Amino acid sequence: MFQSKLKELSDRSLMRRLSPLESGTGPTVHYERREVILLSSNDYLGLATHPEVVHAAIQATEQYGTGSGASRLVSGTLPPHTRLETSLANFKGTEAALLFGAGYLANIGVIPHLIGQGGLILADRLCHASLIDGCRLSRADVRIFRHRDCAHLESLLRRRRSNRSTLIITEGLFSMDGDVAPLSDLASLAERYGARLYVDDAHGTGIMGPTGRGTIEQLDLEQRIPFHMGTLSKALGSHGAYIVGPNDLIQYLVNVTRSFIFTTALPPATAAAAAAAVAVVQREPERRMRLWSNRQRLFNGMQKLGFRMTQTVSPILPILVGDAATASALAERLLIHGIYASPIRPPTVPDGTSRIRFTVTSEHTTEQIDEALHALDRAGRETGLL
Ligand SMILES: *Cc1c(COP(=O)(O)O)cnc(C)c1O
Repeated sequence: MFQSKLKELSDRSLMRRLSPLESGTGPTVHYERREVILLSSNDYLGLATHPEVVHAAIQATEQYGTGSGASRLVSGTLPPHTRLETSLANFKGTEAALLFGAGYLANIGVIPHLIGQGGLILADRLCHASLIDGCRLSRADVRIFRHRDCAHLESLLRRRRSNRSTLIITEGLFSMDGDVAPLSDLASLAERYGARLYVDDAHGTGIMGPTGRGTIEQLDLEQRIPFHMGTLSKALGSHGAYIVGPNDLIQYLVNVTRSFIFTTALPPATAAAAAAAVAVVQREPERRMRLWSNRQRLFNGMQKLGFRMTQTVSPILPILVGDAATASALAERLLIHGIYASPIRPPTVPDGTSRIRFTVTSEHTTEQIDEALHALDRAGRETGLL
């Protein structure tokens, strides 16, 4: 029974397999007994291996143990959790913050408390699967608007029953395209039509904005978007997620959110590492400078080679391939030339938009970027894309 399902996936070039690394993450990794340049990690600032972040995790483990022992509302709220929530709220300039075990858990838990049955959700077409699952759990009606298309969104807002409870959902920095949501226009539409706006800034956190607070800071909208969600697992190099916002929202979520209440608190090491990472983001802006200059070098090189790309404005640099088989072939050729970058296929992205999603970090050297471009030139020709 499962054999035939697996064969079907394989026939459509949609089979997925785990690709275990033989090292930790970093600008280079060990894979299949070779050292290769990694261009697939979301550890944009290299904080997962930053000495201060690693040290914070070790110290918290020694002081508080490996597990937190219980859920947050029982006896699992330990000093590292409280400290991290305070530091996130300070960093983001909000009254409060609330931790979650993962971005997935935050999205599926919170969305059903912002809107329910009878309500209307309007979500960008490229929203992450966890946002979509949160929408489903809410039992509200869901309509999808075209990617970053405010005119389409407004037509849906106009057509709805007046005063119907409405939630607009978007990512801040889109994870698979690397482009940015038109947050200013989305906030205006939300204000004008009396809707709420939910922004998932998993990828913007730490890298966007003058001080790394994220896409909302970048677009100068912190006064107009009172709460949002982000993760600790991308640029912050740790694990987990947060909602930042006003006290009453956070207090309410503590009381009702099932994916917060009925799960064990993050391990102390994870929370302590994330708090150290937030401090590094604030103290070492040079990491962001290096990230953006690496991003520009890789982007310019890809453009010059002539690849088809998305409207990216970020260190997420997708090369659009189209069909899943060619995306897999390109990834295989790249690996032969020493570059690890994974193909992204449906259902992660819409049909016909399979791609290799490259991500560059502050820790790559210019030599590594140039080597990647050389490999891309060769692999592009070998697969007929160039
Ligand atoms: C990664 C990601 C998530 C999920 O976060 P995890 O902490 O990995 O569960 C949610 N939303 C977006 C946009 C993401 O990129």
